[in-house]
Amino acid sequence: MEKFDVAIIGGGILGTAISYWISLLYDLRVCVIEKEKNVARHTSSRNTGVVHSPFYLDPAKRKKSALTSLISHDLWETMAKKKNLPWLQVGTIEVALNESQHHTLEKYLKWSAKNGIPEDQTQLLDDKELEKKEPNLKAYSGLYCSRDVSTDYGLFTKELKKESEKNGTQFLFGKKLESVTVGTDSILSFSDATTLDATLTINCAGGNSLDIAKKFGLATEYDDLHFRGEYWIADSNYSNLVQTNIYTVARFSEFPFLDPHWIKRSNGTTEIGPNAVPVATPETYLGYTGDIGETIDKVKEIISGNVKKLLLNPDFLTLISKEFLSSISKTAMVHRVQEFIPKVKPEYFTEHGTAGIRTPIISEKGEFEKDILELFGKNSFHIVNYNSPGATGAPAYSALVVKQLQEKGLLKSSTKQKSSFWSFEDIINQA
Ligand SMILES: Cc1cc2nc3c(=O)[nH]c(=O)nc-3n(C[C@H](O)[C@H](O)[C@H](O)COP(=O)(O)OP(=O)(O)OC[C@H]3O[C@@H](n4cnc5c(N)ncnc54)[C@H](O)[C@@H]3O)c2cc1C
Repeated sequence: MEKFDVAIIGGGILGTAISYWISLLYDLRVCVIEKEKNVARHTSSRNTGVVHSPFYLDPAKRKKSALTSLISHDLWETMAKKKNLPWLQVGTIEVALNESQHHTLEKYLKWSAKNGIPEDQTQLLDDKELEKKEPNLKAYSGLYCSRDVSTDYGLFTKELKKESEKNGTQFLFGKKLESVTVGTDSILSFSDATTLDATLTINCAGGNSLDIAKKFGLATEYDDLHFRGEYWIADSNYSNLVQTNIYTVARFSEFPFLDPHWIKRSNGTTEIGPNAVPVATPETYLGYTGDIGETIDKVKEIISGNVKKLLLNPDFLTLISKEFLSSISKTAMVHRVQEFIPKVKPEYFTEHGTAGIRTPIISEKGEFEKDILELFGKNSFHIVNYNSPGATGAPAYSALVVKQLQEKGLLKSSTKQKSSFWSFEDIINQA
């Protein structure tokens, strides 16, 4: 049986970034275990592609996400320049459609400063100022953040994989973790009937990370739900109706969903989306049910678990019915965008974009967990609920994970890193 010092489950942006830092700082035997044939086959390539500035993140409740998004912006920019990767500084306007939402924007402006965004990079605009900036945008007011960028996180993940490999990480593809035996080391068993022995296991399996944490006997009090976000691509004749990314204030702040946005992609196209349609598995990109066995398991979990309590919340049911409608009907999705860009019409959108699936975690109270869940097991560490702006924050967040593992004694401290475009010490000093 092959033996590794560190086995990372999941070759998305998070697992790949963690492998990069460990391989940069140590001479250990490190592997990334990925069930697909390459990295970033799921959420890390199926997202909106925005490098978010954390003006909309509550500095008290989402401290780590806010901090790591802020720090990571410059890290990604450095890497984009070095590796010639897409970096399109389009800016974002978060719009308020009424006075009450405007008060939320006023709060965001304060959060922006608290989260460390330079003051000259966010400003509140009234309806007239908005119209001057974007003549086809109609809203009560907007918070303009000039530093937001559009990029392609799949490409970033593939470049990081190459760098990590240069430092000695082994990427083991086509290996789906099925079961685990926890002892002094963990024995990981895969669907191809192979096994390996890992001294430290790090679970970064995205939409499957809760299920994997449960295999280690952890997080049994949580359940999860999978929501597919769908997009429509604008015909090129209409893609410049608005030049900036447009987001809206969340109608229900307790749920991690927004109305579809207007997105300027780094490849020059414009899309609207994503909505948030419940689906059975983290990979149900078409239809709603996916694999029949997995669907039955999910229905059982919903009937008997934490989600049952969520289903008693009338706001959640209203939201979900609206989201379903916008999945079945393109017109319904476009109507949601017409609320802030009245000129858009359903016929301007002729092609589906690439859908992605987020997997929020539901607590015993039947509430969505707000921030990332970090769980220590015996010689294992699990990252669950790693949702947006997870791609933005990945380089700094993964450095902080390594620091935590050092503090817990699961990794020795390391003062010397190999040559890199990023500095571990600088990130730790900024955090
Ligand atoms: C619709 C949508 C829009 C988003 N937009 C943005 C955005 O604009 N900006 C932003 O910062 N963030 C955004 N996000 C969030 C961001 O994309 C995620 O936080 C991030 O990609 C998560 O990365 P990950 O590595 O944790 O997960 P993933 O990319 O899903 O990687 C997990 C990997 O684990 C593998 N895996 C799973 N189970 C197993 C197993 N049993 N054995 C082996 N391998 C396994 C999977 O194949 C997968 O490759 C968005 C997310 C969605 C869904």
